[in-house]
Amino acid sequence: MAFRQRVFSGVQPTGNLHLGNYLGAIVKFVALQQHFDCIYCVVDLHAITVPVDVWGGPEVLRQSTREVTAAFIASGIDPNKHIVFNQSQVHQHAELAWVFNCVARMGWLNRMTQFKEKAGKDRENASIGLFAYPSLMAADILVHRATHVPVGEDQKQHLELCRDIAQKFNNDFGESIRARGFGDAFFPLTEPVIQGPATRVMSLRDGTKKMSKSDASDNSRINLTDDTDTIAQKIRRAKTDPEPLPSEEAGLEARPEADNLVGIYAGLAEITKAEVLKQFGNAQFSTFKTALAELAVAKLSPIAAEMKRLTQDPGHIDRVLADGSERASAIAAETMNAVKDIVGLIRH
Ligand code: ATP
Ligand code: MG
Repeated sequence: MAFRQRVFSGVQPTGNLHLGNYLGAIVKFVALQQHFDCIYCVVDLHAITVPVDVWGGPEVLRQSTREVTAAFIASGIDPNKHIVFNQSQVHQHAELAWVFNCVARMGWLNRMTQFKEKAGKDRENASIGLFAYPSLMAADILVHRATHVPVGEDQKQHLELCRDIAQKFNNDFGESIRARGFGDAFFPLTEPVIQGPATRVMSLRDGTKKMSKSDASDNSRINLTDDTDTIAQKIRRAKTDPEPLPSEEAGLEARPEADNLVGIYAGLAEITKAEVLKQFGNAQFSTFKTALAELAVAKLSPIAAEMKRLTQDPGHIDRVLADGSERASAIAAETMNAVKDIVGLIRH
């Protein structure tokens, strides 16, 4: 069966949105709007999988949910042409996740590196939600039967799991799926969209670590809400090696910090790393960092200003989310009703 092409992706309302989220995910969300129907979700049910003191409690969660929504809109996502909503307002996400908890195998989830990293040494004390996170993520995607998911490189493994769950569901219930006229497969095998020069933006302090919301050092990341001076200062202080920039991409191998800054420049300028090196090959870092800071400020400060304006009217943001939730619910209800029929869960 051919599936209608549809894009879905989500961002957690946890802490500071950073340049990695922007270049790895949000920029792609914006571009895909031209050719696809898109659904973009603030995944609040994922945010609460870590301890309360980490996600910050009810007031912080509400604020962060509105802030991510504002970032989507300020970056150029159109909530009228496409769908923007927060996950918890569409109950079918959680409902389908339960069915998927019964499809996915412990062994599959045991292999997930994000769980290992986030649970750390004290795995006994991690929430069940954190362990089952990829199953909820599969439900987010498949409740909309999305065919394409733009994400950063770190989410690749979860997308593979999403395909495994879809495949097992399609197999386990094959007969029932065919009997209800859905052909051989009810769920699509979703494609990850991981492209471009900045799919894994690294920490500015350590080129071997992903830029992350949870890094203790604020200097490790550029937050979308950072002001002009802060952005320039963080780039100036970013770790580098003493050599000038190479003029070919091969020269970036084994130079993670240089590679990262060139990737960030390429992502922001929407060009390739090779093109950046054509321009800056043999330049000293001091020259390159000045140009990078100027570019980052030019691209990010209008977004920060618009986010600030939007978050001053939380009522408007809540109406955007309510409207998006209604439209997302219509799609999700159709899928969930079919899933209930396929599995044998009686409904009136
Ligand atoms: P957390 O540490 O709480 O998981 P996060 O920064 O990974 O936070 P998420 O909300 O989990 O943020 O991810 C949102 C999107 O941003 C995902 O598509 C993810 O792949 C992408 N992303 C996150 N960090 C990076 C990064 N350093 N480089 C590129 N993409 C990233
Ligand atoms: Mg993450």
